[in-house]
Amino acid sequence: MLISIQNLYKSYQLGTKEVEVLKDVSIDIQKGDLVSIIGKSGSGKSTLLNIIGMLDNYDRGSYHFAGHLIKDLNETQAAAYRNQFIGFVFQTFHLIGTKTALENVMLPMQYRGIDKNTQKIEAQEMLEKVGLGDRVNHLPNELSGGQKQRVAIARALVTNADLILADEPTGALDTKTSQDIMNLLLDINKEGKTVLIVTHEPEIAKICNTQIEIKDGKII
Ligand code: ADP
Ligand code: MG
Repeated sequence: MLISIQNLYKSYQLGTKEVEVLKDVSIDIQKGDLVSIIGKSGSGKSTLLNIIGMLDNYDRGSYHFAGHLIKDLNETQAAAYRNQFIGFVFQTFHLIGTKTALENVMLPMQYRGIDKNTQKIEAQEMLEKVGLGDRVNHLPNELSGGQKQRVAIARALVTNADLILADEPTGALDTKTSQDIMNLLLDINKEGKTVLIVTHEPEIAKICNTQIEIKDGKII
């Protein structure tokens, strides 16, 4: 099992009030799965994805990634795991505005200490793979939304992570571009990557082999 979550609880402190956001969540995801997490706004989707992505901790229960217990990691450990195992794609792309497409895709390799020349070659290859071979020297604000998301996907893939986590990856895109981006994520899954897509669009959820629905912090 790539991801095994058992009876997980997570709450946020809001002033003096404790708000329980995830309640008794249990999920198993196998390597190579294509999974959607669907639910209304505020249901806890991003919170769950952030825990899976080791960007956030949880209160009770357990989360195992490839057999390792992921609990109370310090930031250095979490960053090391993320860099090795996980690629992220976000609704608003999260590209660095002062860096070109190529430089954005080079970044995760820079964190790994890979030499600059290799970084450039691999980033170029990955951008070609996502259909942006002719845009490598563009800055994010010189790219369309769909192109920005392709850069983000190239960046997520370039370290050969096992798991791609996408939080509403088509949320800021028009229908046609959304389909293109979804097709790209499907291709990536067909190549063997485990892909987890958070969405509130049933059309997108339906395409995935496994659908997880979350309501008020509970899996239904
Ligand atoms: P979704 O992604 O499904 O829209 P979220 O996981 O972002 O939902 O949020 C679930 C609930 O947790 C919401 O009620 C939200 O307001 C609350 N929440 C999310 N992040 C925080 C935070 N950092 N502090 C306090 N409450 C939060
Ligand atoms: Mg969200």
